[in-house]
Amino acid sequence: MQHIFLAINKMSQMSILFPGYSNVAGDIMKANCSCTLIKGPPNCIIDTMTAWDGSRLIEALKLHNLHPDDIDYVICTHGHSDHIGNNNLFQNATHIVGFSISKRDEYSLSHDFSKGAEFQISDDIKVVPTPGHTLQDVSVIFNNNDVLYAITGDLFEKEEDLENDNIWISAGSDNEQLQRDNREKILKLVDFIVPGHGPMFQVPKK
Ligand SMILES: [Zn+2]
Repeated sequence: MQHIFLAINKMSQMSILFPGYSNVAGDIMKANCSCTLIKGPPNCIIDTMTAWDGSRLIEALKLHNLHPDDIDYVICTHGHSDHIGNNNLFQNATHIVGFSISKRDEYSLSHDFSKGAEFQISDDIKVVPTPGHTLQDVSVIFNNNDVLYAITGDLFEKEEDLENDNIWISAGSDNEQLQRDNREKILKLVDFIVPGHGPMFQVPKK
């Protein structure tokens, strides 16, 4: 099991519990998402992998002295099956799935990602709308002592797609122009990106 320690500040510590991957072999694509923990409080988990990953996710949290009940926010960058598979482990959390914010059967009507509104979770963690891959994608921005990390889901498939648009386009894009614009926005904003299906990378110097 890979646990990559990434960033710590006085409030929060970010770790990639499982780096994402995607590989095509014949007519099958093997893929799973990057699953990221920001240990606070508040405790946040970003993208919960496929429905078959529950036990290894619980084990990974245990290594950080966390139980699923300790998680305050589940953030799924979008609603695809490899990003939402274990949301039901987190019974005490507010769930943000794309543009939807809910807890139990209560859905927030006051926050509108579609109008560009950012959702502030704490001083150093916020959720921002970054549609394109789907029309309701979000990214998490984590400020670690002024070094900025974006956990983007499939806005970025993997580092290699910076040089090869085909990689993110062929991974599926509901609106290529919108995705292109949001990719640019995130590249200008942050220092490191955790993409949907590859290891974290540093944003090339502008
Ligand atoms: Zn994905």
